[in-house]
Amino acid sequence: MRADIDVAVCEVGLRDGIQGIDQFFPTDKKKAWIAAEAAAGVGEIEVCSFVPPSVSGQFVDCEEVIADALTHDGLSVSALVPNLRGAERGFPTGLHKLSFVLSISESHNQANVRCSREESLDRFRQIAELRDSSPENKKVTLAVGLATALGCTIEGQVDPADVVRTAEKALEYGADELSVADTVGYANPTQVRDVYRLLRRHLGDDVVLGAHFHDTRGLGLANVHAALDEGVRRFDASLAGLGGCPFAPGASGNIVMDDLVFMLEAMGLKTGVDLDALVAVREIVAAGLPDEPLLGAIAKAGVPKGFAAANVAA
Ligand code: ZN
Repeated sequence: MRADIDVAVCEVGLRDGIQGIDQFFPTDKKKAWIAAEAAAGVGEIEVCSFVPPSVSGQFVDCEEVIADALTHDGLSVSALVPNLRGAERGFPTGLHKLSFVLSISESHNQANVRCSREESLDRFRQIAELRDSSPENKKVTLAVGLATALGCTIEGQVDPADVVRTAEKALEYGADELSVADTVGYANPTQVRDVYRLLRRHLGDDVVLGAHFHDTRGLGLANVHAALDEGVRRFDASLAGLGGCPFAPGASGNIVMDDLVFMLEAMGLKTGVDLDALVAVREIVAAGLPDEPLLGAIAKAGVPKGFAAANVAA
């Protein structure tokens, strides 16, 4: 993590936010979004997903978007890969990080990627072997997202012991960092606290643990606060909370990046992000996806009188 910030925020709207939207987000607007958000100070952006066009039509321009994103100095560029094939496309682009996602819930993994959790772990092992096969690939950070770690629409409750077991396997196979994902927005702050404590106890203090929360039931930022208390310093979010849930029509998606940055800065935690510049980026998203609702409280209400960002105060 950069030395000048306390908490890292990662924009996932260009991947998680748009993957379920039918309307194609134009390539030039994606580039403009990335450029503006990087200029606002966001240090990491997940810019696409290497899924085949049959799964989502949003990502036919992966290579072009990554090449453009890599022109922004200091920006960490990441992409999601579902399998070895995706990784074979991802490594040659020269991006900084590949994220692999598997579900803790066996049924969700079957529904999402049509294989068992064990098979998913094996796929990740193959990706890690590919990473270690050349000096160029070795520069790429491998992250594993533990989806449905806090609940599943099919199975309901998820056993925290399964989260630990899967996390340990992912690390054994070569993951550089892990992310706990509340994919369907089931979690509450007490549960978040418990799962991070359990993971820390089993994995030790050195493993990088991030958080990927959805605001489906309105507890996204409360869960961020609980994770902060447990020492988590990496959070995914989506500008304007883009990206609902395909299984819950009308539901909100990822936690709202603009509101997350406001909360952290108001709490005195430096994010490196200029909040005004970040809120202005919403216009690019609105222009690219005119039919999508843009969520977020700060963009509507403005910051409180006398608000001083941690970045400025320091
Ligand atoms: Zn997500």
